[in-house]
Amino acid sequence: MKKQYLLAPGPTPVPPRVLQAMSMPILHHRAPAYKAVFEEVRDGLKYLFQTKEEVLVFASSGTGAMEGTIANLFSPGDKVIAVNGGKFGERWGQIAAGYGLEVITIDVPWGTAVKPEDIADCLAREGNVRGVLTQASETSTGVMHPIKVIADIVKKYDQTILVVDAITGVGVFDLPMDAWGLDVVVTGSQKALMLPPGLAFAAVSQKAWGFNQQSTLPRYYFDFAKELKNAKKGQNAYTPAVSLIIGLREVLSMIKEETLEGVFARHARLASATRAGVQALGLELFAPDAPSNAVTAVKAPEGVDGQEVVKVLRDDYGVTIAGGQDHAKGKIFRLAHLGYVDDLDVLTGLAALEMALMDLGYELNERSGVRAAQMILKVKK
Ligand SMILES: *Cc1c(COP(=O)(O)O)cnc(C)c1O
Repeated sequence: MKKQYLLAPGPTPVPPRVLQAMSMPILHHRAPAYKAVFEEVRDGLKYLFQTKEEVLVFASSGTGAMEGTIANLFSPGDKVIAVNGGKFGERWGQIAAGYGLEVITIDVPWGTAVKPEDIADCLAREGNVRGVLTQASETSTGVMHPIKVIADIVKKYDQTILVVDAITGVGVFDLPMDAWGLDVVVTGSQKALMLPPGLAFAAVSQKAWGFNQQSTLPRYYFDFAKELKNAKKGQNAYTPAVSLIIGLREVLSMIKEETLEGVFARHARLASATRAGVQALGLELFAPDAPSNAVTAVKAPEGVDGQEVVKVLRDDYGVTIAGGQDHAKGKIFRLAHLGYVDDLDVLTGLAALEMALMDLGYELNERSGVRAAQMILKVKK
């Protein structure tokens, strides 16, 4: 017998009380009982996104809300800036190009954050830019981009909106949508929201709703205006993922109980313990200057293949982490610490990592990543 541990940046573990809530018999989505659940969910989502705007909910993976954002807010030929510092930044560019937008890419070296001044320069140089598309946390590289500073730059342009893929940001670190003036914030269910895959979310500012009125791109399922109209009546345009919505109500209660501040502090603590742990093992962080609190990307040590680390952890120890993608494949591995994760999960991950590294011939000597993390996590300082 071997227990399985999910320490990948999505899907993430689902809390028992959420699993239990989702095992409830299916409600009919036009019945009052469902409407009551959805009303509660709508309120909870506003708390989570820190907005008074409606948070739209779709039955899809997170990418659905990314695609919906492009299809609902822009028109063919619109010029947008896409911050490309990893696989998900690349995805913004691909979706926008797929819908016939003119994409100006800001290439950011993997493992580093975008420089806000590069966005400011690009906006000034290009002129007539309709949107800036970025990640809050680039999951593929473990980087956090400086969203508040970027928002302050984009805010100066009446005709430009800031679109943030916060799929590993919402519920991980502070991203107050209204206070910072973020125009679109997108997330998905299977990351910090502690749910199975299958829900995507998009919160839209008043400025961005104005863009929606001018947009001429075709859309059908992901029709934001139609979904907004239905949400205001406590409804969804089409059959919602009822069980996931019921699970979401439970998740939102858990987040309210912990408070947003508590949730952010927990992620910060787990992230710093993970970083301290891997550094104590003599390993290097892939994104030392702007690490995300959602996931820690670690350089595989000399002579050790990062993919092998992932494989040994999964096959021999039952611990699922993530490897690197594209040119980072084999060079890094990624330990996630978002969602339903606590102190002992981080220690388990580090302990298993130490064993896997020893199995792969990496000389640990007296080093202990677990001990370094314990020093951060132990209750008495
Ligand atoms: C996971 C993730 C996505 C994609 O989400 P899917 O649910 O797989 O469609 C997009 N952006 C970021 C930053 C992610 O972490």
